[in-house]
Amino acid sequence: MQHSSLALRAVAALVASCFCAIFLAGCRAGCTSASSSSSSASGPDVYLIIIDSLRADHLGTGGYVSATSPEMDAWARDAVVFDRAYTTAPWTLPSIAAVMTGHHPYAVGVREKQTAVPDSITTLGELFKSSGYDTAAVVAHIYLLPKYGLMQGMDSVNTDMVKGHHKIISSDGITDRALRVVQKHAAKDPNTPLFLLTHYFDPHYNYILHPEIYDSYPDYKGPIKSGMAVKDLRKSLLKQKGQELSDSRRQITNLYDSEIRYTDHQVARLLAGIQDAGRDENALIVIMGDHGEELGQRPTRWVGHTKVVSEDVLRVPLMIRLPHHQQPRQRVAEPVSLVDLMPTIAAQAGLSLPKDLHVWGRPLNLSSDDGQRPVLFSETGRWARMQAVIRDRWKLVEYPKKPPGRRVLYDLRQDPGETHDVSAQQPQILAELRADLATWNTALEADHQLMSAEESTPELSAEEIEALRAMGYME
Ligand SMILES: [Zn+2]
Repeated sequence: MQHSSLALRAVAALVASCFCAIFLAGCRAGCTSASSSSSSASGPDVYLIIIDSLRADHLGTGGYVSATSPEMDAWARDAVVFDRAYTTAPWTLPSIAAVMTGHHPYAVGVREKQTAVPDSITTLGELFKSSGYDTAAVVAHIYLLPKYGLMQGMDSVNTDMVKGHHKIISSDGITDRALRVVQKHAAKDPNTPLFLLTHYFDPHYNYILHPEIYDSYPDYKGPIKSGMAVKDLRKSLLKQKGQELSDSRRQITNLYDSEIRYTDHQVARLLAGIQDAGRDENALIVIMGDHGEELGQRPTRWVGHTKVVSEDVLRVPLMIRLPHHQQPRQRVAEPVSLVDLMPTIAAQAGLSLPKDLHVWGRPLNLSSDDGQRPVLFSETGRWARMQAVIRDRWKLVEYPKKPPGRRVLYDLRQDPGETHDVSAQQPQILAELRADLATWNTALEADHQLMSAEESTPELSAEEIEALRAMGYME
């Protein structure tokens, strides 16, 4: 549903000028005045393809040397490819909450806990629905079940492939079901545009080898097995040293990459089916990850996501192919946030936003580098809270609770692996980013108070609780 409140009220509290610029730009996006929406839309079809746990740097478009994504790479040749896209949070529920609402997740009620986005919040699905689109989703994660609120506005949500993660391969089934939606729509209602969200799960642990399509380490003989539970992977790595440890790390990467290659092929099958149905030409197609993944390469040897705000888990692929294959830019080098996706998709599809709708995100400039270097924010709170502020080459990580007051500043250009704290050498940058973070927290808290009054935790079945527990998402 529509919502008109906002941390606009917090604007007065904004002091950092660069931050202000983004914030107001975001508001401008949201404040676009609307002609009244009609039920006979004429926009392009919009296909939003989300791949779970997909690291930007494990695709060809992200510079990966191994052939994990030849089919998406080929497709991306006439897409706008973002080199530095950041998620707002390193796990599915808050990440996709931001994508669907244009707000940082806490503003719409999602932080540490598995809470639903309230009905009062306007989602991307609702924008398309109220603009006369047919809307549908085919999803593979519990958090995309309608009870979490992200699917508001969808005519149909297919959840057949929401099956947890134990040795389950779901992408094939996701593609089949998504194609059925496309074909049915093309046959029944070709003149109405379609908004279809498709969510792929397979690169999420547990990692399963697909030897028929990708195995970069066929000689591996150690303890890491295809389909192994993530907690066992973590335990195994912690016990190992020397050659065994480096072999295991390589095999974990191989299994994860194999899942990516398998999913790459399934996404290509979906794209081909959209083309076969005659729906490709006038289509806006977005391919993205919801967050990345740690693969045991860091000193902590952690495997998975949710826990930290490292580049491994915050950086995601983001590629946008415009209708009629227009390609005003091929690469976007400046950092962007997934919170900008909702206004960007709306703008590119030509939707008129309700004039009382305000969102945090701003429409991304797909035509040229406008010289803006916005400040981006990400956070996680599933273990200990960590917040990250990214501006151009700099990244501040704050630990507000445990240990209180700890903060680290990285120069990502010199130190992309985030190994060296440069706070002492860069006191001015540190002070600026800390001020940006304080301002953001104030605005976010104000948004949260205004927008999340109906915060609620959905009831889960015993099966769903078990699945979330097994994924490490629940105690
Ligand atoms: Zn995810």
